[in-house]
Amino acid sequence: MKNPNIVILGAGYGGIMTAVKLQKSLGANDANVTLVNKHSYHYQTTWLHENAAGTLHHDRTRIAIKDVVNTSKINFVQDTVTEIKPNEKKVLLEDGELSYDYLVIGLGFEAATFGISGLKEHAYTISSINSARLIRQHIEYNFAKYNNEPEKKQERLNIVVGGAGFTGIEFVGELANRVPELCKEYDVPRDQVRIINVEAAPTALPGFDPELVEYAMNSLEARGVEFKIGAMIKEVTENKLVFEKDEQREEIETNTVVWAAGVRGNSLVEEAGFEANRGRIPVGDDLRPEGYDDVFIVGDCALIMNEETERPYPPTAQIAIQEAEHTAANLARLIKGDKHLEPFKPDLKGTVASLGDSDAIGVVFDDKKLFGWSATAMKKVIDNRYLLKLGGIPLVLKKGKLNFFNF
Ligand code: FAD
Ligand code: NAD
Repeated sequence: MKNPNIVILGAGYGGIMTAVKLQKSLGANDANVTLVNKHSYHYQTTWLHENAAGTLHHDRTRIAIKDVVNTSKINFVQDTVTEIKPNEKKVLLEDGELSYDYLVIGLGFEAATFGISGLKEHAYTISSINSARLIRQHIEYNFAKYNNEPEKKQERLNIVVGGAGFTGIEFVGELANRVPELCKEYDVPRDQVRIINVEAAPTALPGFDPELVEYAMNSLEARGVEFKIGAMIKEVTENKLVFEKDEQREEIETNTVVWAAGVRGNSLVEEAGFEANRGRIPVGDDLRPEGYDDVFIVGDCALIMNEETERPYPPTAQIAIQEAEHTAANLARLIKGDKHLEPFKPDLKGTVASLGDSDAIGVVFDDKKLFGWSATAMKKVIDNRYLLKLGGIPLVLKKGKLNFFNF
């Protein structure tokens, strides 16, 4: 009998962890496993805000796939998925097509733009190594340009970040540390530069612990970040952002809008015909969409409900990794003839967000609040733990953040 084909789409947290776990649990004669990814590298999305601000080089964030995936056991295909055809059990790629017996979809997220005028054309998003590098270079270009034009344009030095969710807050934390360096490098007075974080909800980090939100805002404001809270972004053009606050329309002149105000699942998954909810696909506790027993969805493309709160779990790396480990174990069961799949339930360890490289906030172990150096150290422990899972101690030594206290 022919070996079943398992095809994994995407080498983000969900895809690469599924591949790494399957290479350990399946033998060469159990199944043919193929991993497809756009690039030859995996990247840690959770570090992209640092690459975008320019506080961490993007080579630290990316990991060659061949360094963690054994390509004699797993067939790695560097290509871009263009279409998923679940009824034909096929995936179309830019340079070919693949047939599967089992499919694991881990194609990640894209920005949700909510139809806001001009966003797609004029705003930047922190969503890949290339998009983060573009933001870093765009900001530097505007600093360089400021002193090389007859007229000094304030729009070059106003950096506006849309959304004060975790991505927006982590990004302005990095910018607050990077801007003084840029000012020195490009002979720009620090007080000319504005970092403005615009949030529609009545608070930054809506839903997070209020004491920690206040701590974060104080830390960021002390380093020059301005907040516009209760301010709904309505429009972005080449050189301005428009928002509405207290029923008043206001504008900020800017060449740099970074949109960090929401994500949705990769459009390819919705386009494949699975029933979708804001771009994410509802899956059962076996992580399969209804009616497709040969498809598993992991990471930000999957929507799973928290029965206690009756709301979807937020899309996080933490959950993507757990879903991947779970799916690999269930696939190994299926391949070995066991039809019983174990149900998945996330085991949430908490949330820790950085506010730059030497400050952070977090809630861990149910309700333990952390801030300052202890949260910074915890964030690095979380990051290093992931690297340990993915590639063992050699990967931690190569890519880890080992300076826990920033001495
Ligand atoms: P991704 O990590 O997005 O990976 C998707 C992969 O698919 C990528 O390798 C991509 O190249 C590939 N791909 C996409 N389209 C195609 C295609 N058409 N063909 C081939 N390959 C393709 N979560 C946390 O838990 N903790 C954090 O601290 C945290 N920090 C974050 C910080 C930032 C700045 C951001 C943006 C998010 C953060 N998150 C965090 C959320 C977390 O990063 C996501 O939930 C996580 O990346 C989802 O993993 P994934 O595997 O679904 O997708
Ligand atoms: P998000 O959806 O969590 O936050 C987006 C924010 O933008 C919200 O506060 C929302 O009110 C605001 N917003 C939406 N529309 C707006 C508008 N028109 N004008 C102004 N503000 C607007 O998105 P995110 O921060 O990108 O996070 C995405 C996912 O990644 C979440 O699940 C998050 O938990 C996770 N994440 C986690 C971490 C961490 O754990 N350290 C870091 C980053 C992201």
